[in-house]
Amino acid sequence: MTLAPLIRRLQAIVGNAYALHRPEDLIVYEQDALMVSRHKPDLVVLPDTTQQVSEVVRAVRELGLPIVPRGAGTGLAGGAIPERGGVVVALTRMTRVHDIDPISKTAVVEAGLVNADLTAMLEPYGLFFAPDPGSQVAATIGGNVANNAGGPHCLAYGVTSNHVLGLEVVLADGTVTWVGSRALDEPGYDLTGILVGSEGTFGIVTKAIVRLLARREAVRTLLAIYDTMDAACEAASAVIASGIVPEALEIIDGMSMRAVNKTLQAGFPEDAEAALLIEVEGLAESVPVLIERIEAICHRQGARRIQTAATAQDRMGLWKGRKHAYGALGKLARRAIMLDVCAPRSHLARIMRQITEAGTRLNIQVANFFHAGDGNLHPNLLFEFDDNSPEYARVVATTEDIMWACIAVGGTITGEHGLGMEKREYLGWMNSDADIAAMKRVRDAFDPDGAMNPDKVFPTGRPVHGTIPSVRAAGGADR
Ligand SMILES: Cc1cc2nc3c(=O)[nH]c(=O)nc-3n(C[C@H](O)[C@H](O)[C@H](O)COP(=O)(O)OP(=O)(O)OC[C@H]3O[C@@H](n4cnc5c(N)ncnc54)[C@H](O)[C@@H]3O)c2cc1C
Repeated sequence: MTLAPLIRRLQAIVGNAYALHRPEDLIVYEQDALMVSRHKPDLVVLPDTTQQVSEVVRAVRELGLPIVPRGAGTGLAGGAIPERGGVVVALTRMTRVHDIDPISKTAVVEAGLVNADLTAMLEPYGLFFAPDPGSQVAATIGGNVANNAGGPHCLAYGVTSNHVLGLEVVLADGTVTWVGSRALDEPGYDLTGILVGSEGTFGIVTKAIVRLLARREAVRTLLAIYDTMDAACEAASAVIASGIVPEALEIIDGMSMRAVNKTLQAGFPEDAEAALLIEVEGLAESVPVLIERIEAICHRQGARRIQTAATAQDRMGLWKGRKHAYGALGKLARRAIMLDVCAPRSHLARIMRQITEAGTRLNIQVANFFHAGDGNLHPNLLFEFDDNSPEYARVVATTEDIMWACIAVGGTITGEHGLGMEKREYLGWMNSDADIAAMKRVRDAFDPDGAMNPDKVFPTGRPVHGTIPSVRAAGGADR
């Protein structure tokens, strides 16, 4: 099919500079942060308004081409990769804030707005947007909504679905519709709830009504160093068991700390095996009391060294290791896959041991930094070879063993990154055929032709690229 007439039509809608068709422009959009899969789109369009998104969708669908919505491309599950080609609709020009209402603590923002930019704009109002994925300096609100993003502070505040009240969406036939509103409870079905986490398969989110929170009076951060990962995990559980729910409760392992030392001279002890990072926010009177209690618990659980910080600058110093851990892994290996799995907090120490064992058995280095408070783990598999080499099978087998270990203790195969392309073939490990059929019927109600982000989320039946059998065979899990 010649694309020349479509290119001309799209250029007329969005302007010549924003309908990309040259190979050197398209190559930028063939990948996201998953890094082990690439597919070039036929075209990329960067619309500036909802009206333009709607016209683009109509033009593309008249030719029957698939559409892949895209934000900043920081997704780690391949959700924004145009596997079947078609047209990528990137929202990155739609960054306006239409309204900030400090009384109702809501804002109406465009989907391409970068998460950290929203929080920076809210600073003068003493407000913030709670979901804070590690990628927040680049990831867009639309991408956060599509993946129901979490982040370190979601332990206390909840994930994106808890902070989105309504959405403007362009459906697969170009219709523009709103779901939800500023009102706290809408009559009828909770369509906002269904759209959050739908990974771009229901339509293109163009605006969001987001809930804002007031900045807390005081914030304190604590970093506790442990000789073993077991002790750090037990300390994390002990803090929560004491009745305190910190705003953030993160763990960084020894391999990640040593990588951060290499890049940022962060000063972590080279022989420590884990660091626990805890942040507490609240009233000026209560925060020091809570931090003292947490410090005592961390000591009781065998912390070798504890540092606390109250000023913004000192707190940033303690967060440095966690915030820069992913980038620092580049010092250890040419390639990395950040896996995203969940396990109940009570099983943290055991699962971390199983992750180490899986890496050792299959000869894959695994570095960990994760949201320990909500049991959301991120084992990073490090390797040198390409994903089309026979050795890549060991990476797949390691991810499968880790996913299965989590399912076996009542966890899940994804905590916050979504299924995308990376995990879709494993949906049946957790859900029955009937579950999956019900999910497909919901999708069909929004997009009967399956034009929006096709082949994502649901199993395709394609073999996963790996030939080493994993420890367990697939088959639905008890919940
Ligand atoms: C270093 C690093 C740290 C990270 N830390 C976290 C973390 O702490 N928590 C977390 O949850 N995630 C994290 N992520 C993953 C990722 O950043 C989030 O999922 C983020 O929300 C993706 O936003 P994005 O704009 O980059 O979306 P993209 O990657 O562009 O897209 C992601 C998915 O959303 C869909 N999509 C994007 N925009 C729209 C739209 N407007 N309408 C409909 N569908 C859309 C795409 O089709 C795709 O399926 C991290 C990633 C990196 C690289």
